[in-house]
Amino acid sequence: MVGFGYDIHRLAAGESLILCGVEIPSMLGTVAHSDGDAALHALTDALLGAAGLGDIGEHFPDTNPLYKNADSKQFVRRALELLHENGLRLINIDITLILESPKIQPYKEAMRAELATMCELPLRRVSVKATTNERVGFVGRKEGVAAFAICQVEE
Ligand code: MG
Repeated sequence: MVGFGYDIHRLAAGESLILCGVEIPSMLGTVAHSDGDAALHALTDALLGAAGLGDIGEHFPDTNPLYKNADSKQFVRRALELLHENGLRLINIDITLILESPKIQPYKEAMRAELATMCELPLRRVSVKATTNERVGFVGRKEGVAAFAICQVEE
């Protein structure tokens, strides 16, 4: 089975930018109840989606004070636990980040390593890609960052 996830977060000055569990030096960071890691939120939704287990908002509501400034790795870890409890094993993950700046290239390998550890996967089964939005739309105007994630699981 496959699962798919998507997330966006608004960007603002004076906030931190954390993507795939890696903090990136940036003038703009994500505005969020949690740490605003759109990539890990998309991944959490992909994992839950593969197992037919709902979405991140149902499992970790942003109205819950427990998740204020939460490290989003815990959402991924919990989604993986749920997969395992449902007799499913993760095969691979593939994430695409969309943001205008800064350039993600220098951080990709650190992100892959972080994700591999988080998901207990070998590096070759962890993919991180990044693109700009060609200055078009809200991402292009640096008002937000978007992330897509897909994963495969097997029984
Ligand atoms: Mg989110």
